[in-house]
This record gives sequence, C-alpha cells and structure tokens, in this order.
Amino acid sequence: MTEKLLTDVEYNYKTICENINRAAQSVGKSFDDITFLAATKTVDVSVINYAISLGLKNIGENKVQELLSKYDDYDLSNCSLQFIGHLQSNKVRQIVTKVDLIQSVDSVKLAKEISRLSVQNNVTSNILVEVNIGGEENKSGVSPDGLLDLLCEIKDLPSLCVKGLMTIPPICQNSQKIYKFFDKMHNMFIDIKGKNIDNISMDILSMGMSDDYEEAIKCGATMIRVGSALFGARNYT
Ligand SMILES: *Cc1c(COP(=O)(O)O)cnc(C)c1O
Repeated sequence: MTEKLLTDVEYNYKTICENINRAAQSVGKSFDDITFLAATKTVDVSVINYAISLGLKNIGENKVQELLSKYDDYDLSNCSLQFIGHLQSNKVRQIVTKVDLIQSVDSVKLAKEISRLSVQNNVTSNILVEVNIGGEENKSGVSPDGLLDLLCEIKDLPSLCVKGLMTIPPICQNSQKIYKFFDKMHNMFIDIKGKNIDNISMDILSMGMSDDYEEAIKCGATMIRVGSALFGARNYT
C-alpha cells in the first residue's frame, strides 16, 4: 500500500460522493437517498478500511473465499458487509451469519438454502433478487419474465426477507442503451412495489457501476456498486 494509492482513493471517494449528490439532486433526491456500496474484489483490506475511515458505509465482495480470507480484518463497526457475486448453494453456510445483505439470489433453490441455514443459525437474511435484465445467456439472474413467479415462490420462506432487486446490465457502447435497461429495471421495481406482495418489500434497487452510476441514479437506483472508479483498475494477478 502506497501513499499515492491512498491519496487517489480519497480523491476518488470525494469525487464519487459529489457525483452521487449531483445525480440525486437532478431527480429530486438527496445524497442520503442513495446507498454507495464499494465493490471490493481484489482490494487489500488495509485499503478497504482506509475507504471506510473516509465515511464509506457499505462494502460488497463477490467471492466467498475472498470474503472469508479478509473477514477478520475488515473494520465493520460502522460499515455493512454484503455479498454481491454469484453464490452457489453449497457455499451459503460459510457466509450466512457474516453478511447483512445477499444481493444475488436468482433461484428458488438458493433462496431455500439461505432460508434453511438462517433458521438453523437463528438469523434473518436480507436478500435482493438478481434480474438478468438484458436476457443474456450465461449470465446470473432470473429472467424478467420469471421474476414474479420467483418472488411468489420465496416470499413465505422463514427467516428470509426480500428487500428489492439487483441487476448487472449488458455492457453498452452508448448511454442511450444503458438508460433503456435501467428504465426497464426501474419499471419492474415500481410495478412489483405496487402489487404490495406480502413479505416482499421493494426498498432497494441496486444498479449502476463505475461507468454508469450517475445514469442509474437518474433512472431510480437506490444503491450503486462502485469498484474501479474508487480503487483504480483491478489487478487480478
Ligand atoms: C465488480 C463489481 C461491481 C463494480 O464494478 P466496477 O465496474 O469496477 O465499478 C459491481 N457489481 C458487482 C456484482 C461486481 O462484481
């Protein structure tokens, strides 16, 4: 960890907060209406904790193994730890008591396993349902057409609380296209909210990453997940 890196993270953090504030205000919201989650994959815990010391209140990991290896060192006294990656049912046990929100539930099987282990461990698990908004093959997430059925199948599972929706849209070359996907997500979110389904709350709409979080906020995102714009380009080696 170098001075330079920390200086960059501090500068980036402030810049992103300003951008969030401006985007939120442009749609009649305020900074506090938007949850800024940092996607922390490949980032050293010392750097994550430095970002937390700047005021960051939500972090998300997307690999179980990586989360576990960093877990004892995160400074979580003022920060929520969430899971944002693809989760296999056989790994739920390892994180179910450790995270505040699992953002990436896309099957009845996975929801049932989270519920079962939550009951067993005497915790309540908050989840988002991940939607494959672009209908891309080989991508996690329930299809838009299957969303309502999935919600109805999991809504009564014990110790499981659906809090909203999450998506990772297709990579888009131009911002018109990304707006289309974000709008479609927001419409589904509002639609389901309006149905007032028992035990389903639609409070969180998690969409928007480094390249498009301002667009996402303008389309109604309540949570953004930002990695490289905060920590710099990832080095996977
Ligand atoms: C890595 C990651 C992000 C952040 O991506 P950036 O483009 O680096 O901002 C957001 N969501 C998920 C699920 C991720 O894995």
